[in-house]
Amino acid sequence: MTLFDSPAFENHEGVHAFFDEKSGLRSIIAIHSTARGPAAGGCRMWPYASADLALIDALKLSRGMSYKNAMADLPLGGGKSVIIGDSRKDKTPALFEAFGEAVESLGGRYWTAEDVGVSPADLTHAARKSRHVAGLEGSRSGSGDPSPVTAEGVFRGIGLAVERAYDRDLKGVTVALQGVGHVGAYLADKLHAAGAKLIICDVNEKVLAEVAARTGATIVAPEAIFDAEAEVFAPCALGGAINAETLPRLKGRVIAGGANNQLATPAIGQALFERGLLYAPDYVINGGGIINVAGEIRALERGEAFDRAWVAAKLDRLTQTMAEVLDQAVAERRPTHVVADEIARARIQRPDRKAAA
Ligand code: NAD
Repeated sequence: MTLFDSPAFENHEGVHAFFDEKSGLRSIIAIHSTARGPAAGGCRMWPYASADLALIDALKLSRGMSYKNAMADLPLGGGKSVIIGDSRKDKTPALFEAFGEAVESLGGRYWTAEDVGVSPADLTHAARKSRHVAGLEGSRSGSGDPSPVTAEGVFRGIGLAVERAYDRDLKGVTVALQGVGHVGAYLADKLHAAGAKLIICDVNEKVLAEVAARTGATIVAPEAIFDAEAEVFAPCALGGAINAETLPRLKGRVIAGGANNQLATPAIGQALFERGLLYAPDYVINGGGIINVAGEIRALERGEAFDRAWVAAKLDRLTQTMAEVLDQAVAERRPTHVVADEIARARIQRPDRKAAA
């Protein structure tokens, strides 16, 4: 496979490969677009079976970040980095310092942060060599745990989708919530406070019991969540929850949750549309997390403290965008994920950098 022939290549501006003999670093940083601002997206450490697979992941993930950052109306483009290695045994301070040097060599065209396999502690090592690292603990620019902001965005998105699908508010609506980890637990509290009824599942018995005790939720087995009698299915665990096997089992008309990559394939987006379900596109509804990170990047760039009011205003704007996607899809009788992609592409091609700042 060559880079430009890869199906994952979509007009990426730059793809950079880094090798450091001393630390063993093998990393790829993909910059999809800087049209809206410096590319931003986390660093994933994964034991890829080949460099080709690492490249494909970096290409796909960086493109996804361009779309997500555009839908959150951030002054940021899309980028992503991958480190080839096993995060359980290959991590060293030198590896992340070498990665920091790689990031810094791009001169601010790419901001990194954490992703699967990379922790705030790892980023501390990278930050010794680069100023373009977000997600650090203990700095006055630091944004902390993004989950409450993500959960607030998802909560509002569920409300918008329920209004459109059922013409009612959340009081008395039943939500089937898959996964009550960081995002899911905050979301459960918000839904409960709004008068929704909850059916929840998780593979972690402890968090499950805690959330149920607080919210009066009914607990079901992980496999049974797809059969729950609920108006809303909210995936907040792993990717791929909506697939050919699970879709026909859903009882409600709304799919809206915080997980990334909820649709196993793009074809599932078309299939759920044809079944009359309304889907809040994952990369729009869960944009609160990246808004929080963007708040940190902004603070670091300006040498200022983290500004919660800026984050709150961006979350309001995200809510407007979510409503725009749902309304346009309903009015034009088209799948929401197609409409969202179109809006994202337009925002990348014709960025309003002043408004986004
Ligand atoms: P988390 O790990 O804290 O929570 C995930 C929960 O899902 C865990 O409690 C886990 O036990 C549970 N789980 C795993 N497999 C399951 C299964 N088969 N059935 C039911 N539960 C299962 O992660 P999180 O930070 O809450 O993120 C949840 C999802 O939201 C992820 O897809 C993540 O990528 C996405 N997301 C998170 C944020 C954020 O701010 N944390 C932002 C954007 C997107």
